[in-house]
Amino acid sequence: MTHVGITAPPAVGWDIHCHTVFSDGTETPLTLLEQAKSRGLQGVAITDHDTTAGWPDAETAATQVGLPLLLRGTEITADDCRVSVHMLAFQYDPDNAQIREMFANTRDARLRRTKRMVEHIAEDYPITWQSVQAQAHEGLRTTIGRPHIADALVAAGVYRTRSEAFAGVVSTSSKYYIPTPSPTTHDVVGAVKAAGGVTVIAHAGDLSRNRRLLSDEQIESLIAEGLDGLEVWHRGNPPQQRERLLAIATAHDLLVTGGSDWHGKGKPNELGENLTDEATVREIARRGVLPLFGA
Ligand code: AMP
Ligand code: ZN
Ligand code: FE
Ligand code: FE
Repeated sequence: MTHVGITAPPAVGWDIHCHTVFSDGTETPLTLLEQAKSRGLQGVAITDHDTTAGWPDAETAATQVGLPLLLRGTEITADDCRVSVHMLAFQYDPDNAQIREMFANTRDARLRRTKRMVEHIAEDYPITWQSVQAQAHEGLRTTIGRPHIADALVAAGVYRTRSEAFAGVVSTSSKYYIPTPSPTTHDVVGAVKAAGGVTVIAHAGDLSRNRRLLSDEQIESLIAEGLDGLEVWHRGNPPQQRERLLAIATAHDLLVTGGSDWHGKGKPNELGENLTDEATVREIARRGVLPLFGA
């Protein structure tokens, strides 16, 4: 069975790349589900960074709002030979010990690195570790990172928006930047597989995140290890990269997904601006160990 019938972005379907207050989104899982319903989406996935902490609230919200269809996922921070890679993982067992340990390690590393960045920035700008932590809406359950530093800089009046801060003090090219030590992409594919889930490389063609992108060979070695799909429909992937990713997906019979990378008010990305078709979502659910919530 081939999974790549699609060479153009779907006009209706699911938004399966969404962040909430459990990482660096500004809205709750309830607001995510409410907005998804009012925008007429077929369903959504919650994909906060390096955590499953928002899943229970998203499940409750899905039932409450009457948009019962929900994929449960995570955007996992990874490294592949010094290329920073984000991997979307879906429908795995959230109690799996290996996955839990991986997330605990990454969140610890994020906390330490974010705190160190803040110590340096605080020498030059009016923020403190407390003012940054105050931007994490769920306290220690929120996966912390540069967006929270950016929000503290906005609260202090240094920038008008989070995106402006990302173009300045918190950018990867700023002197204050410290990368997050991360598991390898190979570790992530293995861990998610072991936990019964499905992995998709997020925005692999986004040149604004990396000077160097993953090569075809790097992607192909992950496919050999069980990678399930590529996120093609994402605003960060320019047309040429979409073509390249679609060609790889076609050659290897991969799933092709789309998502907005919604962060509420934290990014201009609109909920539902990129979508995944229903058949692909059903295939993700079929491969994963969890049932499609609400189905
Ligand atoms: P970090 O993972 O701590 O290095 O922070 C990078 C994350 O910030 C990425 O996952 C982005 O999606 C996220 N982010 C959230 N809001 C913005 C924004 N307005 N501009 C750029 N990146 C953002
Ligand atoms: Zn994010
Ligand atoms: Fe990402
Ligand atoms: Fe994201």
